[in-house]
Amino acid sequence: MGGTFDPIHYGHLVAAEGARYQFKLDKVVFIPAGRPPHKTAQEISPARHRIMMTLLALQSNPHFTFSSVEVERPGPSYTVDTVHEMRRCFPGAELYFITGTDAVLEILSWYRVEELLSLCYFVAATRPGYRLENLRQRLGALPGHLLQRIYTMEVPALAISSTDIRRRVREGRPIKYLLPEAVERYIYRAGLYRDGAVPAEPLLAVTACRAADGREEETL
Ligand code: ATP
Ligand code: MG
Repeated sequence: MGGTFDPIHYGHLVAAEGARYQFKLDKVVFIPAGRPPHKTAQEISPARHRIMMTLLALQSNPHFTFSSVEVERPGPSYTVDTVHEMRRCFPGAELYFITGTDAVLEILSWYRVEELLSLCYFVAATRPGYRLENLRQRLGALPGHLLQRIYTMEVPALAISSTDIRRRVREGRPIKYLLPEAVERYIYRAGLYRDGAVPAEPLLAVTACRAADGREEETL
């Protein structure tokens, strides 16, 4: 699952766990975006904070893991390059790219979309009631064999968004129960999302994390 994760929240986690169960996935790799082509540098928090929050959020699920391929790669983050990288990391594995319907609807504008869909399946998390036919209609320009590579999955927590969480922090409103408690604490301690605040250095709250290749890492 890719995303800016600024911050990661229960919408992401519920979608990832739902996809893991529904598609019988061995693991879900969370890949924070480096520089998404559609967002400017000022609009997103430094990668180190997004990485820390992602790691904190993944701790409680043994099937969830993390990869820093996108943040380490210079230049804009293209999903197609990331999927190639995942194929190198997990040779022979069947790959599913988990995403929200909003992102999948933009797929036609994505870089090298046909190649991308030939490399992996897509799982689009949809609002309850939002049917596959709606998605098919919207993606009408895509050839049938590629359309077949996109699955939809209903998730119950779709109203949660990072944009709303950032706004809530800025306005001093609660974010409790929208994201894991450890991530909430990290946001306040690091001073993220407050107007004019200079974010602190990443807090070394995580001492061990599971890298995508299963290696143990001591600290970041
Ligand atoms: P922002 O508001 O900053 O765009 P976001 O909440 O959409 O953040 P992203 O990091 O942009 O989060 O999303 C990563 C992926 O997770 C995208 O594919 C997005 O569609 C999906 N996603 C985001 N929120 C939810 C949610 N509540 N339920 C399911 N999927 C979600
Ligand atoms: Mg988004």
